[in-house]
Amino acid sequence: MNTRRTFIKFLSFFGALIVPWTILPQKWSQSLSLLAGKPSIKLDIAQAEGADGSDRIATEILGKKGFEDIQALCQVDMQGRRAGTIGQTRALVYLGEQVRELQLESFGDENYLQTFAIPVMEERVINGRALFRPKQVNAASVLAANLLAGIKGMNQNETIIISAHYDHLGMYQGELHRGANDNASGVGCILEVMRRLVQESLAGATPRVNVVAAFWGAEEMGFLGSKYFVKNPTIPLSNIKTVINFDTIAAGSKEEFIFWTPKDNPLTEIINNVVQRNGAKIEKDDGKGHKSDDSSFLDTQISAITVLSREWLWNNHTPEDDITVINQEKLELACDILYDVVKELAY
Ligand SMILES: [Zn+2]
Repeated sequence: MNTRRTFIKFLSFFGALIVPWTILPQKWSQSLSLLAGKPSIKLDIAQAEGADGSDRIATEILGKKGFEDIQALCQVDMQGRRAGTIGQTRALVYLGEQVRELQLESFGDENYLQTFAIPVMEERVINGRALFRPKQVNAASVLAANLLAGIKGMNQNETIIISAHYDHLGMYQGELHRGANDNASGVGCILEVMRRLVQESLAGATPRVNVVAAFWGAEEMGFLGSKYFVKNPTIPLSNIKTVINFDTIAAGSKEEFIFWTPKDNPLTEIINNVVQRNGAKIEKDDGKGHKSDDSSFLDTQISAITVLSREWLWNNHTPEDDITVINQEKLELACDILYDVVKELAY
């Protein structure tokens, strides 16, 4: 509760700072201007449903593509979505709008959020890549958040999670790092797949188990969002069978993917088959010391895996990771693969 209250204050504070000069579309500035005043964030993030005031989901929402999400998340206004900044808040407002418009169930608090504190970070460039390191390991004093939204299944005691981190580096050593591939691409993929599933559930196809989209915060600072979730699960860990994480998925040649997983994993065969069926290739990769949010689940019973583009490191953690690196055909293929995997596992 305390955490939540602090987060609302945090949102209000930043809202007050940005409203006077905001160049956001009108819908956004209205939504963000609410952050500056008295109303709780329930009004901002949660009140985006049905533009015409009805509870019907508009067809243009269901047909929205992952590429449009990437474009939105890479706008200058998002400031590179660095955890603990106004860019993070704007990304959360955007994600909140998307899941609210799809009328997804919350698997976090009433605003779909799970808030947590992160330490103050220091900027470092190692091997040409910009990275964060904590300044003081135990001084967690900045707020960040995960966002969790999904479709309830017939058996609500079983859940599969599809996930992507939405944060990136932000303004870093004076340059804007937008993180189009890392990881607006993963977020776009998850949202597009959720839209397809919602469309089907409107036509009567209820999943066998819960399908939850998790958008992790503060991944770039050491997987802090997913680690926090594992320590403070909003869904009992024993109910979660699978976490399929998408990270830096849409740059490079269309058909080539890799995956990282911290242990032997029954998912790899299913994913392999689906990838082949879609005319693509995927291989296990040891990551060479690189990790993603799947690693936070290492000490649980959950099968967790991260799927990436083979060329995930291309322009990674540089200002050049912008919208021009996105291969739209690859993005669509990644969406198809994730969609097929979810259909196999949850329907
Ligand atoms: Zn990254």
